[in-house]
Amino acid sequence: MRKESVVVVGASLAGCAAAITLADGGVPVMLVDRAEFPRRKPCGEGLSMRGQSELEELGLELREACPESPQLAGYRICLGSRIRDLPAGSGGVLGIKRAVLDDKLLAITRQRSRVSFRGESPLRAVERVGSSFRLVIGGDTVVAEHLIVADGANSGTLARLANARRRLRRGLRVGCSSAWRVVEGTLPRVVLVFPEPGGEVYLTPTGSSSVNISVLGTAEYVASMSNCGRLSRWLSLREESLAAALELEAPALGAGPLQSARRGAAVCGAYVAGDACETFDPIGGMGMAHALMSGRSAGRAVARALASGEREAALASHVEEQESAARLMRGFTRVTSWMLGTRAGRAVIPVAVSSGLASCVSHAAHSGAGASGWSALLGVVGR
Ligand SMILES: Cc1cc2nc3c(=O)[nH]c(=O)nc-3n(C[C@H](O)[C@H](O)[C@H](O)COP(=O)(O)OP(=O)(O)OC[C@H]3O[C@@H](n4cnc5c(N)ncnc54)[C@H](O)[C@@H]3O)c2cc1C
Repeated sequence: MRKESVVVVGASLAGCAAAITLADGGVPVMLVDRAEFPRRKPCGEGLSMRGQSELEELGLELREACPESPQLAGYRICLGSRIRDLPAGSGGVLGIKRAVLDDKLLAITRQRSRVSFRGESPLRAVERVGSSFRLVIGGDTVVAEHLIVADGANSGTLARLANARRRLRRGLRVGCSSAWRVVEGTLPRVVLVFPEPGGEVYLTPTGSSSVNISVLGTAEYVASMSNCGRLSRWLSLREESLAAALELEAPALGAGPLQSARRGAAVCGAYVAGDACETFDPIGGMGMAHALMSGRSAGRAVARALASGEREAALASHVEEQESAARLMRGFTRVTSWMLGTRAGRAVIPVAVSSGLASCVSHAAHSGAGASGWSALLGVVGR
């Protein structure tokens, strides 16, 4: 039986952020993932300003690592014949392929000598034994003093640890993402958003001739649009407004449920980060930034616990830090869901955009500017 000081389950954004923070703080860490990298992940692939700065702070030079990724000016909301541009602020949104981003982030994580990484190693079982955790990873048993759970929205680790069953509500939103090639024309350098009855379609340019198409909405709506033939027909009807012809490159990957869900930053003595801790409906584009922030917070808290021996205080600090960051993102996600997802909300989009209100709110949420009045307001909405 192997003994580890810290095990991180999930080597995506939250897991790598936690592992880098620990390693840079002098703590050896075992990082495991069931996948073989590079791997695709259902995602709209629009990285907010806040997400970009989190990655830079972790040491990932985005321009160098992902030179193909275009900087997008913001969002273009297409409501039938009415088109509204919503600037995303100074840093814009980066269109970035998750297969590339996650692989590059894992590569810089693995460069840390204190990180030992095991890919294609699913966590199969976990139990709390005293103040430690006994884990079955692949075919091996490992005892960890501290556990960071970063295995995504449908965390099996938390389900096993807390013996909690997932209850699914009716009317859930689901999503799917596919990769397309631009074969004629050029797409504008913005995220194109098409709100429709039943859901929304997002086109995010991810390279000079590549675009991510994500569909979010009711299961029926997404099932109809994840059929690539149907999506192709839908796109050809919009060729004029898109000014580009597209061809499928990689088929749709689905995910769900997408509704906002809070599972908690501390569960049964484990530190929880990223989507495993709290999932935001992707309609607000907050998921990646949140995963990076909460992964770093978990890493800092574990390092503190190891240095001081005060485990409870460290867990509590992670919960507090996570909650204060999440409030802003929750508030923005609620506002966006209302605006894009309801008839009343859609009716106010033109006024909100032309008055500059939507832009200020979006800037506050995407940059994470703590002091502005809009941030404070979003924080209240997100309580
Ligand atoms: C359709 C869709 C569109 C989205 N669009 C956007 C967007 O445009 N912008 C944005 O910011 N966010 C978006 N998001 C959200 C974003 O993708 C997530 O918030 C983000 O990926 C969360 O990162 P994470 O590290 O917490 O988890 P994940 O990225 O889900 O990673 C979890 C990792 O855990 C591993 N794992 C799972 N189970 C085990 C196990 N048992 N053992 C070992 N490893 C395991 C997985 O292989 C995976 O690598 C979107 C999400 C969806 C579904």
